[in-house]
Amino acid sequence: MAEHEHVRVAVIGSGFGGLGAAVRLRRAGVTDFVVLERRDSVGGTWRDNSYPGCACDVPSHLYSFSFAPNPDWPRNFSGQEHIRAYLERVADTFGLRPHIRLRHEVTQLTWDTEELRWVVETSQGTVLADVVVSATGPLSDPKVPDIPGLDGFTGQVFHSAQWDHDFDPTGKRVAVIGTGASAIQIVPAIQPQVGRLTLFQRTPAWVMPRMDREISGAERWLHRNLPVTRSLRRGLLWGIRELQVGAFTKHPGQLGLTEKLALAHMRRAVKDPELRRRLTPDYRIGCKRILLSNSYYPALARPNVDLVASGLREVRGNTLVASDGTEVEADAIVFGTGFHVTDMPIAQRVKGASGRTLAEEWRDGMEALRGCTAADFPNFLTVIGPNTGLGNSSMILMIESQLNYLVDYVRQLDALGGRVALSPRRGAVDRWNDHVQRRMQRTVWNTGGCDSWYLDANGRNTTVWPGTTAEFRRATRQVDLEEYEVLRQERPRPRAADHGEHSEVAV
Ligand code: NAP
Repeated sequence: MAEHEHVRVAVIGSGFGGLGAAVRLRRAGVTDFVVLERRDSVGGTWRDNSYPGCACDVPSHLYSFSFAPNPDWPRNFSGQEHIRAYLERVADTFGLRPHIRLRHEVTQLTWDTEELRWVVETSQGTVLADVVVSATGPLSDPKVPDIPGLDGFTGQVFHSAQWDHDFDPTGKRVAVIGTGASAIQIVPAIQPQVGRLTLFQRTPAWVMPRMDREISGAERWLHRNLPVTRSLRRGLLWGIRELQVGAFTKHPGQLGLTEKLALAHMRRAVKDPELRRRLTPDYRIGCKRILLSNSYYPALARPNVDLVASGLREVRGNTLVASDGTEVEADAIVFGTGFHVTDMPIAQRVKGASGRTLAEEWRDGMEALRGCTAADFPNFLTVIGPNTGLGNSSMILMIESQLNYLVDYVRQLDALGGRVALSPRRGAVDRWNDHVQRRMQRTVWNTGGCDSWYLDANGRNTTVWPGTTAEFRRATRQVDLEEYEVLRQERPRPRAADHGEHSEVAV
């Protein structure tokens, strides 16, 4: 067999999760690692999503790494280009470039049960790794519904995460499909330009005001010269969101007032009662992600916009047919239909100790120990794994908790010494997931009366963490070796002189 490069850790993906992992590994003294990135630049979802109006609705001072503060965030909620530039700077500042292999798509990962390491096949050759960190992210593979007749449509068709920048919407009849966080940013951004915009709404969203503003020069000066002001700002943003968690996870009844605020927000912009009726959700606020926008409702009230309160069912030539029979002619279709979240695509490419893929292991739903490791997949950690998503705060907080776990994991492997791997005990994985699902029962995501991408095909919520970010931080501070089986490489048979050296467990 050809000699392959061998590294201590292979990280897959270079978004927030992958770059964060790289920084934390370096800081822990691990320099023997690679970051494998399928595209030609870093940034993950913030590189891919460049649609008009793309911005984050978590304030930037919270939506950034604690170890890489940026005193110069220009706005409360930064646009995609600022977040992408931030990630590029993280790659430079922390000396990550030499580790990053661009245009290296991971095609297959196979656990070698004898050598106790991963065989990582990429589009540019094979790497062997003791530990794999999968940071491919839940919002990386666009989901386009299988619409009959779509192939026959002669206009432009693309997904929000694959915006065609050569497309000029001026004067065109554009259909936008979906009313998630992406679509509601696209609609107001293109509405002034298009001839006619038709929005296909399968389910109305709850939309709250967006408290955005420029961060003043004085504030930025303070954040640069008095770092404590930056920390205070971050702490305040975090604390407010922590206090909200109980309403989502334990007392959804308390969200009634928030619904009233959202309805008032709609009434201010939409004067037509019939349009308001069609835009009013029939489920509890928070069940689906709450959207923030000051421009969505005003755009829908413009004369060149039509709302079809029904999903797209079929395309006949250049006519779009909704489930309620409405027919609309269009020159272009923009799918704001989300991502493959509960069926993590990388799982099909990961083959564990038993020879089964992670997708097979997760056939009945994703399950991991502390959101990180899966039974039968030794030394394989996922950043933003099952049940680590959030409904109301910054994912960067959850990512950093998982990175704490990763760093401790590698430290414990080093402490055990020799060629060694950790494999989560199935009992520990089950206990963790029973605990998560028990807590999930009362949450608004399970009881709020909606169908959302938080739920998998079996209706099980395998994406959101049903607690505060502080609770998750505590749960992932350290790796508990009791929850793992320690695998050691089978040693050569002891010679007669090595009396009694049988203490290691061979696998
Ligand atoms: P999404 O939240 O999954 O929304 C997909 C939308 O497509 C839903 O409204 C869905 O309707 C609709 N849909 C699917 N098939 C349809 C059909 N045949 N006809 C009509 N509508 C159809 O996707 P997303 O908006 O891309 O957002 C994904 C996640 O990305 C967000 O929740 C958020 O975490 C993140 N994001 C954040 C921001 C931000 O920070 N501002 C911006 C963009 C994205 P149903 O509701 O009926 O299923």
